[in-house]
Amino acid sequence: SNIIKETKKAKKSHKLVQIPSLSQSIPDNVQYLLIGGGTASFAAFRAIKSADPTARVLVISAEGYLPYMRPPLSKELWYGDDVEMAKSLNFHQWNGTARSLFYEPEPFYTPVEELNTTKNGGISLARGWKVKSINVSEKKVKLNDGKEISYNKCLIATGSNPKTLKLYDDAREEIKDKFSVFRSIKDFEDLWEEMNNVKSIAIIGGGFLGSELAASLANKGKKNGVKIYQIFKEKGNMGKVLPNYLSQWTTEKVKNEGVEVITETEVQNCTLENNGKQVNLILNTGKNIVVDHVIMAVGAVPNTELATDAGLEIDSKLDGYLVNSELQARTDLYIAGDCACFYDSQFGRRRIEHHDHAVFSGRLAGENMAGAAKPYHHQPMFWSDIGPLVGYEAVGIIDSSLNTVGVFAKGNPKDTTPLANETHQNIPTSNEDLEVQLKSNGEALTENGYNKGVVFYLKNDVVVGIVLWNLFNRMSIARQVLKSDRCYRDLNEVAKLFNIHSD
Ligand code: FAD
Ligand code: NAD
Ligand code: NAD
Repeated sequence: SNIIKETKKAKKSHKLVQIPSLSQSIPDNVQYLLIGGGTASFAAFRAIKSADPTARVLVISAEGYLPYMRPPLSKELWYGDDVEMAKSLNFHQWNGTARSLFYEPEPFYTPVEELNTTKNGGISLARGWKVKSINVSEKKVKLNDGKEISYNKCLIATGSNPKTLKLYDDAREEIKDKFSVFRSIKDFEDLWEEMNNVKSIAIIGGGFLGSELAASLANKGKKNGVKIYQIFKEKGNMGKVLPNYLSQWTTEKVKNEGVEVITETEVQNCTLENNGKQVNLILNTGKNIVVDHVIMAVGAVPNTELATDAGLEIDSKLDGYLVNSELQARTDLYIAGDCACFYDSQFGRRRIEHHDHAVFSGRLAGENMAGAAKPYHHQPMFWSDIGPLVGYEAVGIIDSSLNTVGVFAKGNPKDTTPLANETHQNIPTSNEDLEVQLKSNGEALTENGYNKGVVFYLKNDVVVGIVLWNLFNRMSIARQVLKSDRCYRDLNEVAKLFNIHSD
């Protein structure tokens, strides 16, 4: 069929850009070698350059693009009417200013051939090239074509890869063609094309990616006539992160965006339908859904391909390269971003798959590569935007299995009645109590919803995490509250620090 042909064409239209085209142009030895061209690597080269202005840095990136940020791929790029802007990978930020996905334009990078001869050093990028192995004791890496490069200091910032479903792994090629994952510019461009060619898409997964993308695609789908389904195990969107009442509320918002959300459901099997034009997803509830395309948004796995050969240790619980507080795996070898399992002196071993951690850990690794020897002392934040009405920022341990206390502004967010009447406090002894309290208290809340507020996550009565719900520019207050590491008696008082009604 035309749909199948066009979809395949869209997938095939991408050729991996490889610059330089021959690896002999790449230097044989470099002062700083960064493996991976994502956010952590970008933050590292910026930090190296500011600590050591004549540094010579070589970035090797398996993707054929200049280093770029991923967050707008599932959000901003899908909104707005300017199609050309989205196609050129520019987007409007929350404050209205236009920005490119790419951190730096092409001329910023020194051609690889000139890296070791320029007077003031520089940052070079070999894109479309992959590091295949590292020899830690000889301090050299091998590229996919066998070329060897030795380094003084090396950073591994290889990020993570999307997980796939077992039913996909076991499926025949014709079925696999109907499925995709979503992480890169290439995935964005393929999906953009797909949205012009299909009438229905199912997203499997209810976490960050599935929820953001479902809302974004439904918004675009309204214009293109594409129906979006979202299927996941949890009771509501972001159910692993948000307390149940907030997750349920968010799910209502996602539904209002036009998504058909199917909760507490797993896909068990799939078959081709309509002469191979569509795929039939067979659900564990006995129901089934027939769609043109399926997106798997079922989590990510850190990319630790280089570990085995190099003899690097992987954390057995959290996965990722094991590093110390200075992000060092071995002498002169550092790890940052999604693939690092690091030691946080406040909360212990952690591995974080978010933008701000990639920025902070990349910067710290860069500083330490240039000689600083600083520990990881920051509490990284993350944020998510699900459609135009739900946006939040968070810091610390955010896990819906913890006890939570939510303090929300009552009434319309634009309401300006005094704070004392407007906050709603719930001090539960367990999550269940909280839900009961919120529900029994629910009339006003259901009517007005959880438009704005703050949620505290507690471990043994100590605040370990904070979600700022539709509240911005208050991250430094949240970090202060976490830093004091105290058992707060009255969280309503703590909530007042956040001035829930001030904007
Ligand atoms: P990556 O960005 O994954 O970069 C790693 C790079 O290394 C890749 O380009 C990869 O191809 C390359 N590479 C891997 N192996 C090799 C090798 N052997 N040789 C050479 N190169 C190699 N976080 C938030 O906090 N907020 C958000 O709103 C948000 N939105 C997101 C939206 C999407 C669609 C996605 C996918 C993620 C989002 N995230 C968000 C998460 C955030 O983008 C990641 O945590 C971040 O990109 C991690 O950065 P990184 O540098 O560790 O890895
Ligand atoms: P996630 O871990 O947030 O969510 C995974 C979802 O898939 C969950 O709903 C889970 O129940 C489901 N799932 C897992 N295994 C499954 C299986 N076998 N069958 C069916 N469902 C299954 O991961 P994600 O949403 O896929 O995001 C991918 C990566 O991108 C993560 O690293 C994430 O942190 C990052 N990301 C972050 C943001 C953000 O911070 N705002 C936005 C987009 C993506
Ligand atoms: P940045 O400098 O763009 O933003 C950081 C500051 O802006 C923070 O103080 C944050 O609270 C505030 N901010 C961000 N989004 C806001 C919103 N929707 N409304 C009000 N204030 C908001 O940070 P960066 O590291 O350069 O960010 C890279 C990308 O991440 C950009 O696309 C940026 O827009 C995005 N970002 C989004 C959020 C969010 O949506 N909540 C938060 C931080 C960064």
